[in-house]
Amino acid sequence: MSLATWKDAPRVRPLNEAPLRDGPYILCWLQQALRAFDNPVIDAAVRLGNERGLPVLIYHGLREDYPFASDRLHRFALGASRDVARGCAERGLACVQYVDRAAKREKGLVYRLAAPAAALVLEDQPAFVAQWQAERVAARTGTAVFAVNAACLVPPAALEQGVGTTSAFRRRHEKLRDAWRDWTDEEPSVAPYAGPLPYEPDHLGSMDDAASNALVASCAVDHALAPSAMFPPTRAEVLLRLTRLRDEVLPAYAGARNDARRPEGASTLSPYLHFGMVGPREIMGAIAEADVPDESRAKFADELLSWREWFHYKARSLPVPENYARVPKWARATLQAHASEPRPHLETLDALVHGETADETWNACQKQYLLDGWMHNNLRMYWAKKLIAMTPDPDTGWATACYLNDRLSLDGRDPSTYGNLAWAFGDAAPGYGDRPIYGLVSTRTDRSIRERPNGPEWIAAAASRPTFRLTVPDKPPVDPYLTTKLPI
Ligand SMILES: Cc1cc2nc3c(=O)[nH]c(=O)nc-3n(C[C@H](O)[C@H](O)[C@H](O)COP(=O)(O)OP(=O)(O)OC[C@H]3O[C@@H](n4cnc5c(N)ncnc54)[C@H](O)[C@@H]3O)c2cc1C
Repeated sequence: MSLATWKDAPRVRPLNEAPLRDGPYILCWLQQALRAFDNPVIDAAVRLGNERGLPVLIYHGLREDYPFASDRLHRFALGASRDVARGCAERGLACVQYVDRAAKREKGLVYRLAAPAAALVLEDQPAFVAQWQAERVAARTGTAVFAVNAACLVPPAALEQGVGTTSAFRRRHEKLRDAWRDWTDEEPSVAPYAGPLPYEPDHLGSMDDAASNALVASCAVDHALAPSAMFPPTRAEVLLRLTRLRDEVLPAYAGARNDARRPEGASTLSPYLHFGMVGPREIMGAIAEADVPDESRAKFADELLSWREWFHYKARSLPVPENYARVPKWARATLQAHASEPRPHLETLDALVHGETADETWNACQKQYLLDGWMHNNLRMYWAKKLIAMTPDPDTGWATACYLNDRLSLDGRDPSTYGNLAWAFGDAAPGYGDRPIYGLVSTRTDRSIRERPNGPEWIAAAASRPTFRLTVPDKPPVDPYLTTKLPI
């Protein structure tokens, strides 16, 4: 692959030393970047295919045993995958899918698809299962494997390495943004792959909602965790939200962002970003058209580009980004020094999951995760800080925060999940004074939520939303990400 001459070269990383070879196709394995357009993973595969006169075979598979597998996450991923199939057909690309279930069990499918391929192109994701899956396949297959960053506007490798603070990152990142903003979908110059396959694919693209839901119902996942009505998993919904962002959210964003009661303060794009149904380039294109002062655009871009991409950048430098060890030493030490202090607000995991604790504001926050599969940013800050005092010690606090965030939130299991949780546990400037339970780590009260006009009424209504019940263990799993690394 003539990598060095590609404009996108910093997005692409070879994962093994296997040579490119002859084969019937370039395999493009989509793990999380579930979009057919503006997708650097697909574009890299198509460019490589065009260079070698080969078609691309796009593959998406969904196992039933990933950590926290549920109806909510499965329906979202399969909805996204369905639109990938339809979009690929529009682009003249063959796309095959597989949904793992008892009635149709395929073993080692990625290896079997990769075995004859000239090369395998997959996504470079630094958290959750995609990274270890990619590394494992790269180590075990004889096929050349390339990982492509699709999540960021500026690929982390294009930045100087070793940047240590958000402000230093922001300064460097801002200088590179214009160079990475434009893209053109790569046109395949070869007819779609129509040759033999080692299995009978599922055809999600031709399924209606009823068939797709029936398919999810046949999978052994947590069906008690209902899908979120707030986040339909379709590209049509993404496009509606981009229009809403341009016309309603951006004009109000700077003033409304910290007020959870004002819908125009949130784009609600994070689930779609997490599952790669939209990328930052397309979002930046949408906001370029907004009739708003530059400051409004800049405020939004700072969240989407500085903060989100900082956490992606940072996750790449950590061996296990999900681990509590990422919290600075001083913060872990001060929390540990206070670990044996009495917790007047100690809660069971069941009460936490269901938002049935003694803290009404916290319950209002948690009900958003439980029922909507998403929480407003301002509430997440209070929610995470307070959790430290509701759990017996900081390690359990971290495991609980990851468990609640990752099991319930559509945008969980993301570099932004662990980066923001680390902020709550002390990855920021110390607070003022040495306090009970928190030590030097800054705390947060619910005053800013409660003292808004009609704040108490809003909290009471949000906390009392009726809910369903989930099965909850006594304790959160300590390291679900490592212990559930099953063979692929
Ligand atoms: C304790 C805690 C846990 C969090 N967990 C997650 C998580 O699991 N997944 C997740 O994507 N975000 C997480 N965030 C960041 C932020 O709260 C959400 O991204 C945001 O609320 C999503 O809503 P939105 O799309 O309407 O955001 P908007 O305000 O519309 O922002 C647009 C986009 O910018 C990005 N963004 C905004 N704020 C942040 C931030 N603080 N850090 C990183 N990116 C940001 C998101 O991609 C978001 O979709 C967390 C924040 C906190 C304080």
